[in-house]
Amino acid sequence: MTEPLLAIENLAVHFGTGPGSVRAVDGVSLTLERGEILAVVGESGSGKSVLSRAILRLVREPPGRLVGGHIRFEGRDIAAMSPSELRALRGDQISMIFQEPMASLNPVFTIGFQISEALRTHRSLSRRAARAEAIRLLEQVGMADAALRYDAYPNQISGGMCQRAMIAQALACRPRLLIADEPTTALDVTIQAQILALLRRLRDETHMAIILVTHNLGVVAEMADRVAVMYAGRLAEVADAQTFFAGPLHPYSRGLMASVPRIGDRVATLRAIPGVIPRGGAAAAGCTFRDRCPQAMDICRQTPPEFIQGGSRVSCWLHAGSDIAAPAAEGAAP
Ligand code: SF4
Repeated sequence: MTEPLLAIENLAVHFGTGPGSVRAVDGVSLTLERGEILAVVGESGSGKSVLSRAILRLVREPPGRLVGGHIRFEGRDIAAMSPSELRALRGDQISMIFQEPMASLNPVFTIGFQISEALRTHRSLSRRAARAEAIRLLEQVGMADAALRYDAYPNQISGGMCQRAMIAQALACRPRLLIADEPTTALDVTIQAQILALLRRLRDETHMAIILVTHNLGVVAEMADRVAVMYAGRLAEVADAQTFFAGPLHPYSRGLMASVPRIGDRVATLRAIPGVIPRGGAAAAGCTFRDRCPQAMDICRQTPPEFIQGGSRVSCWLHAGSDIAAPAAEGAAP
């Protein structure tokens, strides 16, 4: 069996220390194959953004701490890499794009310079070749007048253009893994559709894998091969996208689906999931979703559910009797 591109094993990231610490990511295990698009979904505070940053060791320490686990990328453990190894990895083999472009664009350099620098650093291109390639990348992400925009500073172009420049920068070295944290949330729907189509095309052409962090299930339905639902720092459900949208198993997943307004509703009624995510993550006994779950049982308050494996994997006592009642290799109980 070939090794997955990425294998996250029992990853734990906490914020703060002592009894008040927050388990933002708490025992998450996941794999990602080459060319696969995995969507990580969940409400704000579910741990999805911390997980995505932790893969590239971008969680600031302190206050964050990577307290356990492994992040194996092509067999090498990112969790154990030195700062110089991390620098060589970032922006080259693994890139990240953010909701907020200024998180990765430097305001004191032109956008063209920043894209060219990535190419010169990781691909050893000449200045002239890097410039030509940067302009080509800007055209590829739909930047109008790319050659002119090359010399623009981030504050001289619109937010949508900055977003495109950041995506061009992230794609410059043809990464094998792209981590996209809410990449199109700040864009209008037309540009959002163009960017998503571009990412899909690049996946098809280059076999780049994508981890797409989003709260937008419409984007997930359009893009993802597989879906991982996070709740309180843990995985609630992992399923292939078709199975997930045909009928999610975890009550939290069902709540997320029910909160999406549907075309055809005369009045779009948003059915919010009552309550909030527990702040401390999964420290308490039992299932962490129990206080919000309409189907909670006594056992849910006492014992964390096993992660049950069928075609999908779900962490919920309601599925304790499903076909394969063995703890899964991926995932952990909420
Ligand atoms: Fe609800 Fe219990 Fe399932 Fe948790 S384990 S989601 S509380 S039914």
